[in-house]
Amino acid sequence: MSIQQNLDTIKSSLPENVTLVAVSKTKPVSDLMEAYNAGQRIFGENKIQEMTEKWQEMPKDIEWHMIGHIQSNKIKYMIPYVKLIHGVDSLKLLKEINRLGNRWQKKVDCLLQISIADEETKFGLNENELAEILHYIKTDKTATNVNLVGLMGMATFTDNQEQIREEFVHLKSIFDKVQAENNNFQILSMGMSGDYQLAIDCGSTMIRVGSSIFGNR
Ligand SMILES: *Cc1c(COP(=O)(O)O)cnc(C)c1O
Repeated sequence: MSIQQNLDTIKSSLPENVTLVAVSKTKPVSDLMEAYNAGQRIFGENKIQEMTEKWQEMPKDIEWHMIGHIQSNKIKYMIPYVKLIHGVDSLKLLKEINRLGNRWQKKVDCLLQISIADEETKFGLNENELAEILHYIKTDKTATNVNLVGLMGMATFTDNQEQIREEFVHLKSIFDKVQAENNNFQILSMGMSGDYQLAIDCGSTMIRVGSSIFGNR
């Protein structure tokens, strides 16, 4: 199957309110251009340097999403063009994005990454850390250049569908709670190639799909 066929198959199965992020990490620009020519305009990358190189080479009507773990010293390279940062997992990181956003006179859209998996290796905030960040956003007068628009999460890497479902349902319940008090929160980013249908059943509004579009990495 070609990239175009893969995209068509996935898109035809998506509800209208669900946005597809094409995860193109490790793939060459020629593959991204094939997706672009098939109409895809939202791409996700997990390394700032790789994303910046692709941004320079590709058409400028693309939305670039940073979906990976973020190294603070590289944030400055993406601030001028990044559309959405999915993986904000500490107050320190959010403050650094705010500081650089301020320098670039830009308000940067961010998702807070919540820890839902039972693996220590997956990054993300617990509920206390989430509360701390929400408090900062509400009360700190200097928090002018970050815009919190939703939550992101990754389920445990397992074949156990019931466990994955429970983790997605858990994230959705946190999302609903936050959204009830802050209607700026509109995006729930959950679901990848192996589990996006389940994620949509559980309330996802944004899926991040790589290998089902571009093939194995
Ligand atoms: C790589 C990656 C994806 C896409 O994974 P696939 O299984 O290839 O669809 C989604 N989200 C994050 C955070 C990733 O790093």
